[in-house]
Amino acid sequence: MPPISPCRAAALLQSTRPPLQRIPRAAFVAGQRQLRSASTKHPKGFTPPTNDDLEELRERTIEFARREITFDVAQSTDHDNEFPNSMWQKLGEAGFLGLTADEDYGGLGMGYQAHCVVLEELSRASGSIGLSYAAHSQLCVNQLQLNGTDEQKRQFLPGLTSGEKIGALAMSEHNAGSDVVSMKTTAKETDGGYLLNGHKMWITNGPDAHFIVVYAKTDPDAGSKGMTAFIVDSSTPGFSCARKLDKLGMRGSNTGELVFDNVFVPSSNILGGVGKGVRVLMEGLDLERLVLSSGSLGLMKAALDVTLPYVHERKQFGVPLAQNQFIQGKLADMYTKYRASSAFTYSVARAIDESHEDPEIRTQDCAGAILYAAERATECGMDAIQCLGGMGYMNEMAAGRIMRDAKLYEIGAGTSEIRRMVIGRAFNKEFGTR
Ligand SMILES: Cc1cc2nc3c(=O)[nH]c(=O)nc-3n(C[C@H](O)[C@H](O)[C@H](O)COP(=O)(O)OP(=O)(O)OC[C@H]3O[C@@H](n4cnc5c(N)ncnc54)[C@H](O)[C@@H]3O)c2cc1C
Repeated sequence: MPPISPCRAAALLQSTRPPLQRIPRAAFVAGQRQLRSASTKHPKGFTPPTNDDLEELRERTIEFARREITFDVAQSTDHDNEFPNSMWQKLGEAGFLGLTADEDYGGLGMGYQAHCVVLEELSRASGSIGLSYAAHSQLCVNQLQLNGTDEQKRQFLPGLTSGEKIGALAMSEHNAGSDVVSMKTTAKETDGGYLLNGHKMWITNGPDAHFIVVYAKTDPDAGSKGMTAFIVDSSTPGFSCARKLDKLGMRGSNTGELVFDNVFVPSSNILGGVGKGVRVLMEGLDLERLVLSSGSLGLMKAALDVTLPYVHERKQFGVPLAQNQFIQGKLADMYTKYRASSAFTYSVARAIDESHEDPEIRTQDCAGAILYAAERATECGMDAIQCLGGMGYMNEMAAGRIMRDAKLYEIGAGTSEIRRMVIGRAFNKEFGTR
């Protein structure tokens, strides 16, 4: 049995709920609320969830994870480097795949705080299942929700929110990671659409995805203004996954190198307009960074889950490890880092949900939330290993996996260095020194 924290154990034991079913949005909305004007970042009729709504959602997610993402599932996903594909339908049935999407297309329309809650608890059970979940529900589904036409949403979102179809987003290339706008993939206009040519690298869910949001240059000489986002159906001739990548962590969150060899994409699959790719990408990145920061929160909680019971049970020198002040110091640091990161992430998510009529999305806050949480999560993973001593170094315990998984969040969705740069530039913009 994997060690779990006393808190988590109590929460799980109290759980007497009926089997999880797809949860109607109404179940989370206290009373009847007025429809407000359309938000550009939330589905129509969005009302921010109450604390009770979010607590209920968290309990449901913990129950789901306890049943579907057991310690053995998390361990074998990591060990075999294979995503448990039956998980998609289960996540869909639970309603988790469209947290920020419109109810008309199978979403729950609950906003970004809710999305953070679900990603946090899924990542607590398995970092890699959490990451694949986020690539689907945030990078793909939310980008379609934000930028898709009604017709595109009707066509793509129901399959994605039910879990029948898997989603991904492809912007990075071998030579265009941090400097993503220098990408070389092209989209050349042809009869009725565009022909895509190029390679994409490190794409989460790439080997499995049915629908992929792909960025390509429609006008390679126009710099950032020449980029366009497309929705690509992976069954289109010319598309292939050259290889599935072998990784340090996040194993089982399948990552691929994708090839586009004259892949025809109809004009109806342009997302956000020709030449508007950079706007779609940058706005998406803000919200992506915010939501992904909750993956780091889940991993910090997982580090505490594995460490707290262990140091209270194991005795050395005749006393539990936890009575040693060096160990107490590590526990205090881990706990404080989790609490501070959590407060940061949820305050930003709450501000965006609550300002939904005219959403205020501050680049420095979204980048700051993940910058802080990601680095703290790696530290917590390292501390968990240290607190467990020799057992911390054994793969039969979760500590090593948590640390390996946590490191990814310092790299994906822009590295820590790029996040610092983005935050600095946001202030330069505000002070007119750009
Ligand atoms: C597991 C995994 C999943 C991923 N999933 C996706 C996905 O689903 N979709 C997608 O499009 N991409 C994905 N990525 C790609 C990811 O976004 C890039 O790896 C990331 O942006 C960094 O780019 P790079 O690897 O080319 O590093 P580089 O840009 O080569 O950077 C190398 C180092 O140099 C630093 N550096 C670069 N430029 C500067 C600068 N100007 N100032 C200071 N330091 C700098 C970086 O911070 C880093 O430390 C994924 C990556 C991984 C590892």
